[in-house]
Amino acid sequence: TKYVYDFAEGGMELKDLLGGKGGNLAEMVRLGLPVPPGFTVTTDACRAYLRTGDEPFGLADEIGLHLERLERQAGRRLGDTADPLLVSVRSGAKFSMPGMMETILNVGLTDATVAGLAGQTGGDARFAWDSYRRLIQMYGRTVCDVPGDRFDAALDAAKAAKGTTDDLGLDAADLRALVGTYKDIFRAHTGRDFPQDPREQLDRSIRAVFQSWNAERAVLYRRQEHIPADLGTAVNVVAMVFGNLGANSGTGVAFTRDPATGEPGVYGDYLANAQGEDVVAGIRNTVPLQALEELDKPAYDELMAIMAKLEEHYRDLCDIEFTIERGKLWMLQTRVGKRTAAAAFVIAAQLVDDGVIDMDEALTRVTGAQLGQLMFPAFDLSGDPERIATGIAASPGAAVGAVVFDARRAARLAAGGTAVILVRRETNPDDLPGMIAAQGILTSRGGKTSHAAVVARGMGKTCVCGAEDLDVNVDARRFTVAGRVVSEGDVVSIDGTTGRVYLGAVPVQPSPVVRYFEGTLSPGADPLVAAVDRILGHADKVRRLAVRANADTFDDAARARRFGAQGIGLCRTEHMFLGERRPLVERLILARTDENRDAALAELLPLQRADFERLFQAMHGLPVTIRLIDPPLHEFLPPLDELSVKVALAESRGEPDGHDRALLDAVQRMHEENPMLGLRGVRLGLVVPGLFAMQIRAVAEATLACRARGVAVHPEIMVPLVGAVQELEAVREEALRLLGPLGVRARIGTMIEVPRAALTAGEIARAADFFSFGTNDLTQMGWGFSRDDVEGAFFARYLELGIFGVSPFESIDRDGVGRLVRIAVEEGRRTRPDLHIGVCGEHGGDPASIHFFHEAGLDYVSCSPFRVPVARLEAGRSAV
Ligand code: ADP
Ligand code: MG
Ligand code: MG
Repeated sequence: TKYVYDFAEGGMELKDLLGGKGGNLAEMVRLGLPVPPGFTVTTDACRAYLRTGDEPFGLADEIGLHLERLERQAGRRLGDTADPLLVSVRSGAKFSMPGMMETILNVGLTDATVAGLAGQTGGDARFAWDSYRRLIQMYGRTVCDVPGDRFDAALDAAKAAKGTTDDLGLDAADLRALVGTYKDIFRAHTGRDFPQDPREQLDRSIRAVFQSWNAERAVLYRRQEHIPADLGTAVNVVAMVFGNLGANSGTGVAFTRDPATGEPGVYGDYLANAQGEDVVAGIRNTVPLQALEELDKPAYDELMAIMAKLEEHYRDLCDIEFTIERGKLWMLQTRVGKRTAAAAFVIAAQLVDDGVIDMDEALTRVTGAQLGQLMFPAFDLSGDPERIATGIAASPGAAVGAVVFDARRAARLAAGGTAVILVRRETNPDDLPGMIAAQGILTSRGGKTSHAAVVARGMGKTCVCGAEDLDVNVDARRFTVAGRVVSEGDVVSIDGTTGRVYLGAVPVQPSPVVRYFEGTLSPGADPLVAAVDRILGHADKVRRLAVRANADTFDDAARARRFGAQGIGLCRTEHMFLGERRPLVERLILARTDENRDAALAELLPLQRADFERLFQAMHGLPVTIRLIDPPLHEFLPPLDELSVKVALAESRGEPDGHDRALLDAVQRMHEENPMLGLRGVRLGLVVPGLFAMQIRAVAEATLACRARGVAVHPEIMVPLVGAVQELEAVREEALRLLGPLGVRARIGTMIEVPRAALTAGEIARAADFFSFGTNDLTQMGWGFSRDDVEGAFFARYLELGIFGVSPFESIDRDGVGRLVRIAVEEGRRTRPDLHIGVCGEHGGDPASIHFFHEAGLDYVSCSPFRVPVARLEAGRSAV
């Protein structure tokens, strides 16, 4: 195996082996740019080292050969007392992990070479001793685990003794003495002298960089960024160049465009008479790159030419690190640069205009996640608001409002025009009206898949959950945090993008992208909006998946339409049974005779019909999928314990309440140990006579009423929780019986959400015009774990163990649940080639899942209105 590549031998095509930094240094050498000579030790060598604790056989010799070549190119030799070569030993993995691993500078300095270094730089002994003390410090800390603060303390002591607070206040003699002190510290902690053999310094530095792959912060960073743990890092050995040799030297970082806005024009910082690490450490104030033009015009012009060349080569924004040593420019690093979401869109559109990339490629330069970010309002933090806590960023956005601790009150205050933030320890379905009414939701418990988080994301509502520092006392109507008491009515601001919670009202900036979707901002008004408009337009042109929305109300449907939805893929009818209609549902459940039940249904019918009419109106001309009622009926009744207490108290007072008593009997009768697997969905429809019929009739009547007004309606009736074709056939027959005489035609289809339905999809397709995957239930039942209970129980541990990289409720599990999807698509279409197939679970708005649904051959995805543009973009991205 070849373990070492000279810069002249590599390139980005070897990124896996050379890492990003090594690959890009090699690219620059290829382009003929001024890069100090050097070589890269591969990730292969690192992996071997981490596996065995030892360097792989032959590595030392190979390094020796490449070192000789480096020495020839540099015209200097490592350890040469008269004219020593110094090198840096730099980490660089395949994926950028900024600042997570180690770099050691000035390797090769020893007692014997330090004078030679001074000689190289025209007798600058101060510089030489300063470089030496930096090496001992970096090497000591990184290679030998000497606590860094020992060196810092010695440096401070030297400055105090000299009566200065600035490093520059120390002269050559002071620094020489400091080197002595540093060596003592090194010896005290390692039991050995600081190594005087440059090759030993080099070899041990390389090993330390290998090892830094497993540094705690690197491990954490990888977990967070979903970077595989077994890649290892490459190590770059680079001849040192010095930016700290006087006024005609310096160092800087630069971007070929503004990484914040994407606007063209170079952008960067420069620091004269300094080394790169000084800039990164922010020790001294930098000046804008433009200042270099006055300081050193030739170097500046050369840099501009190089940056243009890099953009042309990479066809994208690049960032660079450079150093000028006495007027000579050196490139130390480049890569395709990170950028904000806004810049990603602006740059992609700009590159199309420049003829550098085409629209298909522009689509690959942006992501749905970035578009999602651009749709949320953001806080203006210039007023430096007081941050009181940080929780989990569960559902992005910026929300401001008065703290309220119960849902009912939240709904009432909101109805009166007060902006509220619902604060709970955790939420449950009873909190729904309050969650809908609130600007945002804040909880002290639960993670990204807690009830609060999932529901809030579905609604596009800002949510911070699991802010554990909050001590929420609902009864006392206040929470305490860090000794501060926040009472009901006090205003807080929560940032669902960062998880931060602020006291008081922080000003909010609305998203221009959303104003554009809403039609209140024209694309010409703002370069970002223009870029989004173009790129999204192209996505619409190339995508095969249609995008629908999950919406139950006129407002949601209308918004979804403005956001580009091509229909409704899921209207959940159960939400229509809440609020004032609850008593009607109670009557339905309590009915002992057909008459009473029919009377309750007859009262529900016109209400339901009116709901559908409004929805059809909002979506005129587009398909609307109505799902028949899904949850167990007892969800509409009061909780058992609460009601038991109420009835018992009333009876002990001798004031029994017949209604409550009957309700309690019903609740007890209907109690289920596993309601998720109980009497719900199609089972309910087959057991409670007249319930589905009422809903189907309401669909038909609403369709006729709309048609009479000239509204084009395309209703689709969807049956939930089907596991056997016979269930669907029964409902289908009933529906056809009802619809036929009214002259209404509707597609009738089913959710595929029970694993058995997926496995018998070939049969089910006989009775279905369409399938819609309910991936939440399919995931829940496919894995056999309850979505509402897994969060605290074991998900964190499972993520830690790598059993899954991301929650299967967030992103579809391709191998398992995805297999069920593929089977159902294939066998369903075999029975019925024109079967229309979509998805309406949370996954319909998740980028990675959308790519899967595209591959699996679905016809559409359906997601919450706010996710519609994201889904359009990702559907386009999956098609190029
Ligand atoms: P990181 O990946 O954390 O940026 P680097 O390997 O780029 O670490 O190095 C840290 C700092 O040292 C950077 O500012 C870089 O420019 C500087 N540096 C690295 N190698 C050399 C070198 N051969 N000559 C001069 N400065 C260098
Ligand atoms: Mg760097
Ligand atoms: Mg379901």
